[in-house]
Amino acid sequence: MKKIEQPSHIIISIIFIVLSIIAFLYFEGFIWKILVGIILLFISVANFSYAFSKKIPEKKAPTSNFRKFVDNALADEKFFECQNCDTTEVIPLNTRLESKLYATNKFIKDYDTDIEAEIGLEKYPMLCFKCNYVSYWAEYFPPKKFPEYFEVIKLNAKLKSEFIDFAKENNHLEKLEMIKSIEV
Ligand SMILES: [Zn+2]
Repeated sequence: MKKIEQPSHIIISIIFIVLSIIAFLYFEGFIWKILVGIILLFISVANFSYAFSKKIPEKKAPTSNFRKFVDNALADEKFFECQNCDTTEVIPLNTRLESKLYATNKFIKDYDTDIEAEIGLEKYPMLCFKCNYVSYWAEYFPPKKFPEYFEVIKLNAKLKSEFIDFAKENNHLEKLEMIKSIEV
């Protein structure tokens, strides 16, 4: 015998077969008996056969935008957010064509003055192509799904040239053109 994959549909099937019998026995008019009885019987049979089919994993179901939004919110993927206009992107930021955020490795270091050793917080600049502001971010320790944010400043000439250099070094040609086109 085939394995019952979805037992809840067996129960639904039984409920509808009972309803179908009730319709056959108690409905007055012949048309109603047949019509309602057959519809209920059909639902019962459909549920019965459905009970033996494997459940389709949710990932294979077509995804709506809302579904994608929920998935993104629940995913383990790291995401970044412009601290000026709230534009959000998941990683990788730099290599996806549609990404509106772009980060470089040209960090600035915040030294902890209480500690003598050469350690400090590395804050990386992230440019937003929607509002042309740069948000500085650093990794939490231990890392979280999102970074910690610091200064938020409008793109200036110095930062722009650093972003251009980084895009050239990494051959991010589309992003390079986008950075170049920003007026500072
Ligand atoms: Zn922005």
